Amino acid sequence: VSDCAVNPWLLLFDPESDETRRVHATVGADATPKREKRLFCVSCRTLITNQDERITIQGAHEHTCANPHGLTFHIGCFRSARGCVHFGDATAEHTWFKGYSWRIALCAQCQAHLGWVFESPTGGFYGLILDRLTSHSGNNN
Ligand SMILES: [Zn+2]
Repeated sequence: VSDCAVNPWLLLFDPESDETRRVHATVGADATPKREKRLFCVSCRTLITNQDERITIQGAHEHTCANPHGLTFHIGCFRSARGCVHFGDATAEHTWFKGYSWRIALCAQCQAHLGWVFESPTGGFYGLILDRLTSHSGNNN
């Protein structure tokens, strides 16, 4: 099309991609005004984060990662998670995201392990284990 370098950020927002359609479906507040966007701790239903906080890291929102013990985790990346507290010292050992060190992220209320907070000199994000979050607050099931 042109001799410009391909901008990877533009590719992320390709209007024809499934990912973009999915994000738009999530963000489509007008079509589904009562859709619950808040995400709660599965164990204690404390508010952890919000689907509006979802971000793309290294090409995807969701990542499947294995730790050195062979356990795999399906995580989603979030800009913030105010319901989490951090545990332990930051380390870059076995990190899943190049350039980021990590600490364990726990539910601030019940201390359930919800994921990890990834930190770099230019910013950070949360990688939260998706099946440990729920959109049900537990108040009106
Ligand atoms: Zn909890």
